[in-house]
Amino acid sequence: MSSRWAPKWELLNVTVNGRDEVVCFDKETKLYACPRCGPECMKGGIPSSSSYFFNREDLISHLNAHRYALWSKKKSREVTEEVEEEGEEEEDEE
Ligand SMILES: [Zn+2]
Repeated sequence: MSSRWAPKWELLNVTVNGRDEVVCFDKETKLYACPRCGPECMKGGIPSSSSYFFNREDLISHLNAHRYALWSKKKSREVTEEVEEEGEEEEDEE
């Protein structure tokens, strides 16, 4: 017994942008874990590094962000949807 935290993972289905995704939910801590960041949770283990969320909406938006691989700089440069935010900075200088 070396682990301090013994999660009881439950695999839940969520819908992300119309696609089904399986996520991990720990019944002990009521935490959701991202299976893409830490696939160990799918096997009942504790992910060495993962993303945890207290509510499902946060997890879903996180999974959504995986589509664009915002943080993992893979070769996927195909996703070049340039999100040009209109930086309307109002300059009230007179
Ligand atoms: Zn993730």
